[in-house]
Amino acid sequence: MTMIGLEIHCQLTNLNSKLFCSCKANYRGCEINENICPVCMGLPGSLPRLNQEAVKKATMIAMALNCSTPQRIAFFRKNYFYPDSPKNFQITQLNIYGDTSVGGAGSITVGDKKIRITRIQLEEDPGRLIYEGSSSKNLITLVDYNRAGTPLVEIVTEPDFETPKELRIFLNILSDILANLAVTDPTLEGAMKADANVSIEGGNKVEIKNIGSFHDLEKAVHYEITRQSSLQSRRREIIQETRHWDEKRKITVSARSKEEDLDYRYFLEGDIPWVRIESDIQTELQTKMPESISSKKERYTKYGITSQVADVLSSDKYYSDLFERSHTESNAKEIANIITTDLMGLADTKERRLASKLGAGHLRDLADSVLSGAISRNSAKDALYDMVKTGRELGDVIVSLNLGNILDKPKLTEIILQVLSEESQAVEQAKSNPETVHYLVGKVMKKTGGKADPQLTLEILEAKLA
Ligand SMILES: [Zn+2]
Repeated sequence: MTMIGLEIHCQLTNLNSKLFCSCKANYRGCEINENICPVCMGLPGSLPRLNQEAVKKATMIAMALNCSTPQRIAFFRKNYFYPDSPKNFQITQLNIYGDTSVGGAGSITVGDKKIRITRIQLEEDPGRLIYEGSSSKNLITLVDYNRAGTPLVEIVTEPDFETPKELRIFLNILSDILANLAVTDPTLEGAMKADANVSIEGGNKVEIKNIGSFHDLEKAVHYEITRQSSLQSRRREIIQETRHWDEKRKITVSARSKEEDLDYRYFLEGDIPWVRIESDIQTELQTKMPESISSKKERYTKYGITSQVADVLSSDKYYSDLFERSHTESNAKEIANIITTDLMGLADTKERRLASKLGAGHLRDLADSVLSGAISRNSAKDALYDMVKTGRELGDVIVSLNLGNILDKPKLTEIILQVLSEESQAVEQAKSNPETVHYLVGKVMKKTGGKADPQLTLEILEAKLA
């Protein structure tokens, strides 16, 4: 049996300041080493001050993942010497004095399987190393500390995964949950990262670090399972070690064996007192929790929206927010279909979403016009494309692109009579076999460029053939 566990690092990208100082949490776009201060640089005499909002957001993550939330949490120093760590230690959490991390045991359901969460801890992100130079001989390493001290939540799972595919499904669900909580933007570069530990039956545990994306995580774990199985079939030992993912060669390479593993000399961070999270604060956070994805999905299916469409709609915060603001009892199903069949192709990336000029009002007008027969589903697609691009009102779009349905009965009758005179054979057929009338409806549609209202066309045709 294969056992895979994960450690997921998730930046709290929606906070204003770093975990222990007032530097900006959003370091992206800053000049190199601009977003720093004595606290996050660890200068002598500086003192950290805990960002309370970060503790609240991390607690909400714990709640969303069904984890226990201890009322007393503590911070520890993890000592290590590395250029990206200006203080030579990282402030993090640990459970050596009982459950003192921000989240205790919990679980997420993936398909029909429960993935157990071991704990959730709040810690600071290190700085960033930049390698410059054309060859390994004149390579220089530069350090940018803008990221040092950014609030990071680490989610540790039990080794409950058995296949790389399960990892992918789990990480997609987790990203959706975090986006729904509005604590992080998973689409930002570096906002979410994961390390994996992999072991096969009878073998030692191997940790894979340095994986840049979730896509690569799946590949790295797949590679590692194959490597370990191959060793085992040749009766060779699987060494307990840390391996790095080599992005270029698509293989894992040995980083260090367990014997030379670092001793981090953890001890309680004396500059930050134990933090009490009173039950009234926990209750307040509970009431602030947004509606869960599963509850949204259940609510959507009550409008007659299929389970599959409701699933897609509820798990994406951008689309579900748009749906919430635009739908009414009567047009909910139509709006859900417009979003999932047409809009998702037009606003599939963050850039396109930001550039989109489509508002809730546009969607509501569009769905109502389709339902009233004023515009066909095909034309609705063209109108949607225009509104996403220009933000014009639907009425203007219909007039300028000539998309409106022919709802005028005398005008439509005139066209139908023309078709009937051209299709004498089909007319005879339709008289003896009413099923074949749809051939004539198709001819009318063709002649009107798809603008005839199908229901009205059928009514007139049936009256003429009777
Ligand atoms: Zn700072």
